[in-house]
This record gives sequence, C-alpha cells and structure tokens, in this order.
Amino acid sequence: MNILEIRNLCKVYGTGETRVDALKDVSFDIEQGEFVAIVGPSGSGKSTLLHILGGVDVPTSGSCNIAGTDIGKLDETKLAIFRRRNIGLIYQFYNLIPILNVEENMTLPILLDGKKPDRKLLNDLVDKLGLKERLSHLPNQLSGGQQQRVSIGRALMNNPALLLADEPTGNLDSENSKEIIALLRKFNKDNNQTVIIITHDDKIALSADRVITIEDGQITRDSGKMSAKKDLSQMMREDISTERSAGHSGRKG
Ligand code: ADP
Repeated sequence: MNILEIRNLCKVYGTGETRVDALKDVSFDIEQGEFVAIVGPSGSGKSTLLHILGGVDVPTSGSCNIAGTDIGKLDETKLAIFRRRNIGLIYQFYNLIPILNVEENMTLPILLDGKKPDRKLLNDLVDKLGLKERLSHLPNQLSGGQQQRVSIGRALMNNPALLLADEPTGNLDSENSKEIIALLRKFNKDNNQTVIIITHDDKIALSADRVITIEDGQITRDSGKMSAKKDLSQMMREDISTERSAGHSGRKG
C-alpha cells in the first residue's frame, strides 16, 4: 500500500528576478514501511519537499496524498489536525520547548490535540529511547543525542504512519548519529512506520532501503538499496579516477 503519492509537485518562491523554482514537477510514491533517504546538494529542494510532505508548507501546484488524504484539499485547521495525527517531524536542531521537561515535551502534541497521553506508549518509548532516568530533566540538562531522542519520542507519541526527519544527525557526533539511525530503523521495523530522512551522510544513505537524489529541484536518481549502493560506489570510482587523472596531469605539468 502506498502511504505517499506525490504528483507533479512544483514550488516557486518569490517572483520576477527573485523567483526560485525550488521543486520542478516532482512525482513519486512511497510504500508503507519503506525507509527512504533523500540526498542531494545544498539548495536542491530537499527541505522544501520534506516540509510539503509534512504539511508545514504548501506546494505552488501538484498534489500530495498521504494515507489516502489529499492534504492540499484540507483547510488550515484540518491540516493541523491531520499533521498531528499522522505525521511525526524530526528536525536537526530538535526544536524542544526549553521550559518543558522531557515528559512534557514528549506529551505536548497529544495535549494540544485535546487527548490524554497513552501512558503505556509513553513508558514504552521512554524505555526504547533510554530516557527513563531523564523524564524530569529540561532540554538544556541533556546531551545533543538525548535531546534528539526526546524529539523522536515526541514525534512518535501519536503513533504516526509517517516519520519525516530533516538531517536528524546533522548536529551529532558519529556515535550518536549511529544510535539515532538505529532507533529510527527499529521503529521502522517494529511498527512498520515509514521513515523519510534527509541526509548528507553516505553511510546513512547506504543503510536506507531506497535513496532518492534531488538536484536543482528535480529527482535525478531513485533507486532501491542494491542499485543505490552500485550508484554510490560508481560515483566514488568516478571521483577517484577524476582525482587520479587530475593528479597525473599535475605531475606531467
Ligand atoms: P535543501 O534542503 O536541498 O538545501 P531547500 O529546499 O532549503 O534546499 O531550498 C531549495 C531552494 O529554494 C534554494 O534555492 C533556496 O534558497 C530556496 N528557498 C527555500 N526556502 C525559501 C524561502 N522561504 N524563500 C525563498 N527561497 C527559498
């Protein structure tokens, strides 16, 4: 089953001389349970795409269907409710509320939705995220890795079908990065939650089931795990041979 169907998505910022075509006719599907990496140079449109998928930005044209709902047809209030119930968003800089402790940060979206937090789910997430001893700590009393785990917990408190992460390890060292990706993978496997992650890290991209490359607002490559590995190793070989030939000509000169 497709959890996501994107059709002819275009996003234009500004007009006239300041016009930027951030997304140009982007179409793709994602199946429930896929773990997808989105890669590409800075400024290529990755965050714009993720923000549209997350319902926090609107496209100029085209459609975005999530779990059977065309989110472009929802008014602002309905979109906010849909987003809270179906989508978990994780950012590079955590976006935690500084005056709320770990438990309060995690349960805030549920309270905003007028519901009572599911204690069993909360305890389960806190266990899996290794935050049991930190529930009453404020964000500034936590390490970067712990803060990112809180933001993952907050994103998962509504048991969303779709988890969107914009460079979730961009601010972490390699050990914490590995842990965060392993956690996202665990939730993906255990709960069949679909994960879409923007990353600049080749290792993370290679660990995904599928890698979508965006360049200049367009998808230039979309491959499954094996072909993505081939593509990346091919790119690396090309880089090495370019460096070698540059080196050879350097020595000759
Ligand atoms: P990436 O995430 O790949 O770095 P972005 O999606 O942030 O790329 O940006 C894509 C393009 O759109 C860039 O040229 C960027 O400058 C432009 N852009 C992004 N957000 C805005 C905005 N709010 N107003 C104007 N231009 C924007």
